[in-house]
Amino acid sequence: MLVRLLYASRAAAAVDADTLSAILKKSRANNAASGVTGLLCFSSGIFLQVLEGGRLPVNKLYHRIASDPRHTDVALLSYSEITERSFAGWSMGQVNLARLNPALLLKYSESATLDPYAMSGPVSMALLDELAATASVVGCT
Ligand code: FAD
Repeated sequence: MLVRLLYASRAAAAVDADTLSAILKKSRANNAASGVTGLLCFSSGIFLQVLEGGRLPVNKLYHRIASDPRHTDVALLSYSEITERSFAGWSMGQVNLARLNPALLLKYSESATLDPYAMSGPVSMALLDELAATASVVGCT
């Protein structure tokens, strides 16, 4: 039984490269152990993350993440049962914003700034799917 969960949140304080790197390092270690895969995107103080895996591990992880003081306004954008993973290659891939084409954001949203609070869940998901397909993701499994 696999599920996919997508949420958005706002960084509670200035998230610098070291903080982001610590979150990704911990995520990759924990997720590999619990069979969770996914992507994390951070831009302009906003996180967008998709988690895939077994229902219980994903639900437990989401509750742990939601209570993390490093972010706030955690908003569940979509939750679905799936037959296969879309992001199986990443224990937690990071969207490489240096390779993020503003035209891709404009394709899915009103402005070239990442704002999942102003996008529907399916549209945010479509954006992440396209980022993964266009090799804009870095990070080992
Ligand atoms: P520990 O690392 O030992 O942490 C124990 C407690 O301390 C936790 O409550 C944790 O929230 C808190 N904590 C740890 N470091 C800090 C810090 N620098 N500042 C404030 N509080 C801190 N974890 C994953 O396992 N997988 C993910 O995919 C994942 N994605 C995340 C995405 C975002 C946007 C954020 C903000 C966090 C994410 N985390 C993720 C981290 C998650 O919220 C927990 O911190 C982590 O899972 C706890 O790991 P642990 O049980 O090994 O405990």
